[in-house]
Amino acid sequence: MDKGERDDPRAARQADCSEALLRVYEFLDGELGPSECAKIAAHLDECGPCLNEYNLDTTLKALIKRSCSAERAPDTLRTSIMARISTTVYRIDGS
Ligand SMILES: [Zn+2]
Repeated sequence: MDKGERDDPRAARQADCSEALLRVYEFLDGELGPSECAKIAAHLDECGPCLNEYNLDTTLKALIKRSCSAERAPDTLRTSIMARISTTVYRIDGS
């Protein structure tokens, strides 16, 4: 993936998390199928740090869970979460 191999377990977990974040973004865009959606929900369930470190809150988590089986997120909520994730992804990439 990245040049310069890093022998750091945290890096691996972080990659996992940043991928999950990107998926969340796709999810909010309405591009994810139910199975991928369920994967994200599962990741957020297991990964407390994801919610804390990346400033995602339980609202988002609940929203994803609900939307896996039901309707899309309301536009206002969607927009604000997307903006937050954009910032977060940028931060991960840039550090
Ligand atoms: Zn995570």
